[in-house]
Amino acid sequence: LVIEPTQQQQEWVNLTHDQQHYLKRVLRLKDGDPLIIMNGQGKAWKAILQGTSAQLLETLTESTELALNLSLLIALPKGSGFEEIVRGCTELGVTTFIPVISERTLLNPSAQKIERWRKIALEAAEQSERQIVPQILEPIKFSIALTKVKEVKTDKYICVTRRETDHLFSYLTKPLLNPQIIATGPEGGWTTGEIDLAISAGFQPVSLGPRILRAITAPVYVASLVSAMVDT
Ligand code: SAM
Repeated sequence: LVIEPTQQQQEWVNLTHDQQHYLKRVLRLKDGDPLIIMNGQGKAWKAILQGTSAQLLETLTESTELALNLSLLIALPKGSGFEEIVRGCTELGVTTFIPVISERTLLNPSAQKIERWRKIALEAAEQSERQIVPQILEPIKFSIALTKVKEVKTDKYICVTRRETDHLFSYLTKPLLNPQIIATGPEGGWTTGEIDLAISAGFQPVSLGPRILRAITAPVYVASLVSAMVDT
């Protein structure tokens, strides 16, 4: 469970109503049962459940995080597609989501929707026993996002569905320790102008293979590929 940073200095932490419900009704935990408490920013403790609180026993030293920062820059898909992406990619270790509005994006998310994405990220991080809850940035236009990441020193890739480009996998050489920003497009794909802009911002165009993946599947595929390489 992820607790408020203000509680982490205490031996006992109060659990919210939702957390108690999840532990007792969903997971069927009883007093004295073990659980893991996280601060969402990299620290975790072994703890036990006691009534409406948890008692922190010892700090966990083993990290469940990827050994690099993986940021996904994602053109928002329609409907609730981004929720699926956030859930799956959080399980796979993504550190930052950069949702963007591209020329062919159909969605303009409300503040409530963004709050919902953040709640999904938190729940997925808890279920995967991650120590970090990924950040979900405010959605911005793709062209503006490119100006912001232009100077950032990371490996940058843009996935385009052109079969003749090299596969992302062939660029991910071991040891894979540099931070990565990988960009995936919307249902209708990136426009040629967007691909050109991304290339001039330092992005390398890459393929994800001969099959066309849905806008929802592509980020999950990318995160799986990177995490398999980093974790093994
Ligand atoms: N007709 C669109 C096109 O040709 O770009 C298809 C877009 S695809 C459904 C959605 C996004 O997933 C693409 O913009 C791309 O970023 C990524 N994607 C899907 N399959 C891919 C592949 N085989 N290679 C590279 N990127 C892929």
